[in-house]
Amino acid sequence: MEHPVRLFNTLTRQLEQFIPRAGTRVGIYCCGPTVYDFQHIGNFKTFLFEDLLVRTLRHAGYEVTHVMNITDVGHLVGDGDSGEDKMLVAMRREGKTSWQIADFYTTKFFEDWDKLKLNRPDVVCKATDHIKQMIELAQRLEANGLTYFAGGNLYFDVNKLPDYGKLARLDLEKLKSGARVEIDANKRHPADFVLWFTKSKFENQEMQWDSPWGRGYPGWHIECSAMSMHYLGEQFDIHCGGIDHIPVHHTNEIAQSEGAIQKPWVHFWMHGEFMKINDEKMSKSTGRFIVLDDLIKQGFEPMAYRFLALSSHYRSHLNFTVEAMQNAQNSLNRLKSSVISLRAEAAAPASALSAAAQKYAADFSAAVFDDLNAPRAMAAVWSAIGDKELPAEQKLALVLDFDQVMGLGAAEWKTEELQISPELQAILDRRDVARKSRDWAASDVLRKEALALGFIIEDSATGQKIKKS
Ligand code: AMP
Ligand code: ZN
Repeated sequence: MEHPVRLFNTLTRQLEQFIPRAGTRVGIYCCGPTVYDFQHIGNFKTFLFEDLLVRTLRHAGYEVTHVMNITDVGHLVGDGDSGEDKMLVAMRREGKTSWQIADFYTTKFFEDWDKLKLNRPDVVCKATDHIKQMIELAQRLEANGLTYFAGGNLYFDVNKLPDYGKLARLDLEKLKSGARVEIDANKRHPADFVLWFTKSKFENQEMQWDSPWGRGYPGWHIECSAMSMHYLGEQFDIHCGGIDHIPVHHTNEIAQSEGAIQKPWVHFWMHGEFMKINDEKMSKSTGRFIVLDDLIKQGFEPMAYRFLALSSHYRSHLNFTVEAMQNAQNSLNRLKSSVISLRAEAAAPASALSAAAQKYAADFSAAVFDDLNAPRAMAAVWSAIGDKELPAEQKLALVLDFDQVMGLGAAEWKTEELQISPELQAILDRRDVARKSRDWAASDVLRKEALALGFIIEDSATGQKIKKS
């Protein structure tokens, strides 16, 4: 098979041709949510990039197995071993047990997931269901001489692994001299990390299991190493997450996995850039975040957020503003009404693409195969729709095919359902006032503003009526 896809590999900092390890089968592991709080739209920027990756590889003809974990134990407030368990923080805040908190936020997470039309991963695995695999992995590391036991915890000894930190290009010496005063006096090196905690660290830990090192709970990093290898085999093709995971979480996952299997682990590492707000990282810990329901309450459709995320490359920052969100909603409305008009014109989508249509299909594929260039792919969609020579049947076939990758739900856009955005509503309200005061000039200006958003206003005996332009 020809392998048409190129992806940026964080490990080599280069665009590389993507060739799966085993024929056409591809294994992908994505770090999932920590379920102690709501997932914000920044988290979903990363999940949307991963969904685009899976859809693109399927579009290229690969059989993808997509695995995602649910972190329901072990993630401390700091990415290293500092701070409290995130679950404990939530328990205090909400007066619930850890299990109730994890269940509540997992359910909420998948509600948003489905609203954004993300495909469910082939495997969703909870950390608490895989403690056995984590213990076995830690035992392998112990057998390979890469661990030490101190103060009741089992640590990974980073100095024992010659290429520790290769993903983030860390320098162990610099890390040591630059480290803040270490709160955990048991560590031999500040970058060492815990594989297994026993009660000694947090007395209130509710989730605990028996282990060879005493009753306790796993470190965060070991869960992803153990579960990914359990479902995808010891070596697999792609591991994804947000860029915040590069220096600690993914670095430590590589150390554990390669320390255990004693050979290279994952071929491609892919990372999504941050969603920002006021030019700072959107994050739960600072309270500076927006959830999907906030957008819905403001009158936006979940698909408009998907559209917004697709309007920038996954390796670019996306700074959230209401204006950008409004633009995305307007573009989505335009796309929807184009598809609805195509359906009115064409009896059915063409069963075979003409030579002219194939050119657009090739442009679209070339864009997504080029490191998931969604903005360029979207431009190909608009060009096809705007081509006056292309018959409606051909356009419809193209758009429905493109949407297998974009995932905006075009197959459901069948009837004219008018979505009145807050911006359009404001225009209608102002125009109502202008008409009542017989200010025809202002009324005409507002009619033009509505047209710019893709809507025609018609005056009738019962008031203003709108339709798509
Ligand atoms: P968490 O629940 O914090 O472990 O995050 C779930 C996923 O969202 C991980 O892949 C993170 O790297 C990613 N993530 C966290 N914050 C952001 C952000 N502001 N923008 C994009 N992705 C993020
Ligand atoms: Zn992970």
